[in-house]
Amino acid sequence: MRLKLLPLLLTVGLASLTAQAAVTDQMIADDAKTPGDVLSWGMGTQGQRYSPLKQINPKSIDKLVPAWSFSFGGEKQRGQESQPVIHNGKMFVTGSYSRIYALDATTGKKLWKYEHRLPDGIMPCCDVINRGAALYDNLVIFMTLDAQIVALDQNTGDVVWKEKIDNYADGYSASAAPLIANGLLLTGVSGGEFGVVGRVEARNPKTGQMVWSRPTVEGHMGYKWDDKGNKTENGISGTTNKTWPGDLWKTGGAATWLGGTYDAKTGLAYFGAGNPAPWNSHLRKGDNLFSCSTIAIDVKTGQIKWHYQNTPNDGWDFDGVNEFITYDQDGRRLGGKADRNGFFYVNDATTGQLVNAFPFVKKVTWATGIDLKTGRPNFVPENRPGDPTAGSDGKKGQSVFAAPSFLGGKNQMPMAYSPDTGLFYVPANEWGMEIWNEPITYKKGAAYLGAGFTIKTINDEYIGAMRAVDPKTGKIVWEAKNNAPLWGGVLTTGGNLVFWGTPEGYLQAADAKTGKIVWKFQTGSGVVAPPVTWEQNGEQFVAVVSGWGGAVPLWGGDVAKKVNYLEQGGSVWVFKLMK
Ligand code: CA
Ligand code: CA
Repeated sequence: MRLKLLPLLLTVGLASLTAQAAVTDQMIADDAKTPGDVLSWGMGTQGQRYSPLKQINPKSIDKLVPAWSFSFGGEKQRGQESQPVIHNGKMFVTGSYSRIYALDATTGKKLWKYEHRLPDGIMPCCDVINRGAALYDNLVIFMTLDAQIVALDQNTGDVVWKEKIDNYADGYSASAAPLIANGLLLTGVSGGEFGVVGRVEARNPKTGQMVWSRPTVEGHMGYKWDDKGNKTENGISGTTNKTWPGDLWKTGGAATWLGGTYDAKTGLAYFGAGNPAPWNSHLRKGDNLFSCSTIAIDVKTGQIKWHYQNTPNDGWDFDGVNEFITYDQDGRRLGGKADRNGFFYVNDATTGQLVNAFPFVKKVTWATGIDLKTGRPNFVPENRPGDPTAGSDGKKGQSVFAAPSFLGGKNQMPMAYSPDTGLFYVPANEWGMEIWNEPITYKKGAAYLGAGFTIKTINDEYIGAMRAVDPKTGKIVWEAKNNAPLWGGVLTTGGNLVFWGTPEGYLQAADAKTGKIVWKFQTGSGVVAPPVTWEQNGEQFVAVVSGWGGAVPLWGGDVAKKVNYLEQGGSVWVFKLMK
């Protein structure tokens, strides 16, 4: 009798092990509430970057020490903007140049590495960075600088499927972490500086098969695919030529380069769209939808449920890509977004209605405020860079000093929201730019700006400032200034802590209520990536990727010169409490 039962027990045992290893839709939906793993970019699809863990707190943090560190190796360093994901005792972390590593999460031992073969001629605008991977079933899925999606077996690193998003030679690239929402793999595109057409695509995460595509430039047709791969039209985004003159919408930019968030309660995925192309706004009179907007897409249909435009007719490269983080306030589901244009917006997550808007940086020149009734900015017309055709030679429009700079009051570095304090923790920067317009015509695969610029400092003492922002009152509750511009993301915890990295190399933590810095550690290169935390075998771990780079050294003008002493790197650091 026992001999007969044994094989049955073994089978059951193996099945439950496999079930534990596979990442399910339910596990992704619960990610924010399950501190034993980090399955998604944002530590939950809402992107709050909040963990309930409290073993590490202001009292215990002086015992926080390195557990291990791992080098990405090779001669390739440059910017490391990746957020690790952790599942089943393994960490999956991407590096610059479209590389990904699987590591033992407690020891740092390398399990496997995959290096994507990149062609010559890729055109990433803002360094050879990658922001992380998504987990689904037994797969780890990430995007590459030549605009491909690669799905690998979590255990072996073998390629299971690989799909091309678009032509890299036309200016398309991809660097965001994919988002899993309601069983679909959602991805955006990069390339707004090359006149690409922004879009969000949904695929079957197990196969890479297309499900729907939704363009983020008004006038373009959306599509859907059935199970057999048959493609049919799924409605135009908006109304052709309503907010775009002539043919400019055909190369209209609005790249969805930072990816998105998803809220199961609303059934909506929230993607931000970047600048309209070209930068010279005088060429494209109108609002230029859906550039510089938050776009809420019904993931079941691939239709735009609502949009809110942060910067209509953008003339400053104020990409509206920043993460829209949903949260509960006064019995309502709302979303917060700290925009590149210097304003923090609160919208109703279900309808898009504007609830609040206020500046989170000290100097804003392009608008005096946001009208809460109409939802539109009060522009300062004389602070828009001038029309080159208005001048005597027609070559250079009037230059203006604008703040924030195009690198933004906030850029790619994701903020965090704590349901304990009700505050958003925003990595902000105070800087401006000289900006002017020039004539430009579209040429496939060439930069499509029609503008020139130099980034300038505003204060000698600091550029970066971590700010705790109250979305109800618009007040900055505390701030921690930083000499270099902040370019990493934020983590907040039930242990009343806020963690963030600095270009000067520190991972540091502050009391979430007061902003008092209670801990810091020098990682050896600049931190431009968001930290995460998880629990394993009763111990709380904190991880962050280190490696200076990204857009600041490439495009930062006077600020790039100011911080040119910073060294490159490429490693992941993991910390836990000393016993
Ligand atoms: Ca989790
Ligand atoms: Ca841009």
